[in-house]
Amino acid sequence: MLRRTKIIATLGPATDEIGMLHRIIQAGVNLVRINLSHGTEAAHAKRIEMTRACALELGVEVGIVLDLQGPKIRIARFKEGAIQLEPGNHFVLDANLGKDDGTEKMVGIDYKELPNQVYQGDILLLDDGLIMLEVIKVRDSKIECVVKLGGKLSNHKGLNRRGGGLTADPLTAKDRQDIIFAASMQADYVALSFTRNAEDIHETRALLEQAGSHAGIMAKIERVEAVNAIDEIIQSSDCVMVARGDLGVEIGFAELPAVQKHIISRARALDKAVATATQMMESMIHSPIPTRAEVSDVANAVLDGTDAVTLSAETATGEFPDKVVESMAQICLAAERQKMTQVSNHRLECRFNRVDESIAMAAMYTANHVHAKAIIALTESGSTPLWMSRIRSGIPIYGMSRHKLSRGRMTLYRGVYPVDFDVTQYPRDQITEEAVSALLGMGAVQRGDKVIITKGDIMGDTGGANTMKIVTV
Ligand code: PGA
Ligand code: MN
Repeated sequence: MLRRTKIIATLGPATDEIGMLHRIIQAGVNLVRINLSHGTEAAHAKRIEMTRACALELGVEVGIVLDLQGPKIRIARFKEGAIQLEPGNHFVLDANLGKDDGTEKMVGIDYKELPNQVYQGDILLLDDGLIMLEVIKVRDSKIECVVKLGGKLSNHKGLNRRGGGLTADPLTAKDRQDIIFAASMQADYVALSFTRNAEDIHETRALLEQAGSHAGIMAKIERVEAVNAIDEIIQSSDCVMVARGDLGVEIGFAELPAVQKHIISRARALDKAVATATQMMESMIHSPIPTRAEVSDVANAVLDGTDAVTLSAETATGEFPDKVVESMAQICLAAERQKMTQVSNHRLECRFNRVDESIAMAAMYTANHVHAKAIIALTESGSTPLWMSRIRSGIPIYGMSRHKLSRGRMTLYRGVYPVDFDVTQYPRDQITEEAVSALLGMGAVQRGDKVIITKGDIMGDTGGANTMKIVTV
């Protein structure tokens, strides 16, 4: 059985170890994520080139996701590097304090607007919620707080407000620079951190296009505002990511499972892709096997219908990057064996507006009912396989395209396997046969198998799929 759910792995020092990148790709990584919050352009470029070289060597498609840092609000630094906060003590966040002058009593903040945006009674969470402060007074540049949940606090930790609403423009000067870098590296996806609304996506899209990139935009849902504007964000982006780290801090961790299910179901209903991220296999940073809770979490995301599951520190800095990918792949496969992941009521009562969309839907229902072995979508942009993959099925969808970017985009879609195939190379009346023999050559089908194929009359034309055919290999 082929795994349908895709694995996104974050690269870092641990995957720079000799042979490791090769091993994690072999173990099943479909896309790599480069976190632009850390490291230099030269280091990122090197990882991207190494990924492409490994993928070529292994004969697989691996998508590249560049994750913009965004306006993460952070505290500055401490004289001693870290302090200990005790519950009940007072602690001050001061926008005017020197960058390195933090003490047991106060620390600087890089976002100077913060004192104008927080109020008495607000709950501020530092270090993903490990430290909790309540605001008792705001005076000029100083936010005076009382410590509710204490602990060790070190340099540059992130800061969120319970309930969200700290409105910082998600595209910082650095992000704008990084968008140009992403374009130059031909990224398949650019992830937008701290997305607030559709407007943020439009702006990012315009900047990407200006830089000559048609990368997909992955909108990270990690603020309360984004959850409230989820439909418009899904409609204007190419993919959303349930970014549970920051999101869990803003909405309270207990709300996460329901919000995750909601985001995934809205994305699928609106025909867009969705990824789930953060702490999925957290314990495997140091352990060679996952906890039972992590196994359930990954499996449940698969049952929710996510296209992709994501690894962060587990692969970037963990001790067992290859083992964690292997375990995650196993969990996905086991979850996908459950019948409910293969039957669909998707859009049964809905009308389709477009010819290519109707063909995609018809192909899937037919495939599910005639028990086809495989579906071939001859595609320019990848949109037909995307529509197809919104319908639950156990049948693999081969998205055959001559465009590198379309194949890169398809690495994300659940149940879609990108194949390099150039329709313009063959006479029209031979294309079906050539496509089927490509699958035969890959060992994906055997003689006698039923295959469904979709294509257009004018080969090489985007949005032209108007034909569905059932053939026997
Ligand atoms: P990050 O985003 O890893 O860039 O913070 C993911 C999250 O917040 O869950
Ligand atoms: Mn985040």
